[in-house]
Amino acid sequence: MILSIIKIFIKLTGLKQIIIFCVIKLLKKSKGLNSRLIELNKFDIREFKGSLSDKAKIVVPKLFKTVQRAKTDYKREMKNLPDNVQSAPKEFWEEVIEQARILGIDLIGFAPVDEKFIFKNDYVGGIEFLYENGIVLGMEMDYKAIDKAPEPPAGLESLNIYAELGEATNKLADFIRSKGYRAIACHPLGGPILYPAMAVKAGFGKIGTQGLLITKKFGPRQRLSMISVNATPLPEASQENFEIDEYCKKCKRCVQMCPVNAIYYEPIIKENGIKTRIDGEKCIEYFYETTGCLVCIKERPFHKIGYKAMYYSRL
Ligand code: SF4
Repeated sequence: MILSIIKIFIKLTGLKQIIIFCVIKLLKKSKGLNSRLIELNKFDIREFKGSLSDKAKIVVPKLFKTVQRAKTDYKREMKNLPDNVQSAPKEFWEEVIEQARILGIDLIGFAPVDEKFIFKNDYVGGIEFLYENGIVLGMEMDYKAIDKAPEPPAGLESLNIYAELGEATNKLADFIRSKGYRAIACHPLGGPILYPAMAVKAGFGKIGTQGLLITKKFGPRQRLSMISVNATPLPEASQENFEIDEYCKKCKRCVQMCPVNAIYYEPIIKENGIKTRIDGEKCIEYFYETTGCLVCIKERPFHKIGYKAMYYSRL
């Protein structure tokens, strides 16, 4: 009843966002973290020739479609907010994990949404508010395609996984809704939250010199997304014994190989206390120019020979 009155008041006054944030405590909002503007129209598919061009004609529209779908679903969530956080049994999370596997998602983990990792602007998806808890997701990018970076096959594979993971994330959010819970699907392209930081909290791995997530399974070769849910308690995140700091300190290969010197030798701490490891402006320009770059993923020993070999070789 109270919620209905609030919703009518919101409609009448137009003070939608402020009031939602003040009254509906279960929503989480940014504490001011800045993100980079990703302009979808700067991905020029004319760079892809022959069979790559044919594939791009499928991948790029799919990417746009999955972004649009996530945006539409988010708007619908905001129009009909839940009253509370719902209790979820162990069996629910087991079903979510199984469904993720069926959808082709390679990595899944759980962590409460941390407001300090939410961006001030999600330029791509327009998401401002998230529910209490996060289901962090990851999908592998093809080794051979990434090994061609910064040539077009690598960029196209990156776009392909943005589209595939975007679609799988939307579908998994549908599955969660079908079980009676609420879900906001956060698309892997752009996104409202710092995915690598959430992935570390969810136990996926560690952050390397370039700021990318390194996992035992795929090294730096995955894309990430998230679904925020009003379901609790979360299953426990299993934190693997995983050490990369010493390697990263000595290696610095990604710093040396970045074509535009966008990676800092040592991370910079910004006024908000968040570590920054790359010059985002330099990176994004080259990223557009090459339709995806990915040299820093390709050149990483964690990509080339894998975590286990790195560990035993004691770089
Ligand atoms: S994606 Fe390319 S430009 Fe950006 S940091 Fe990596 S190597 Fe440098």
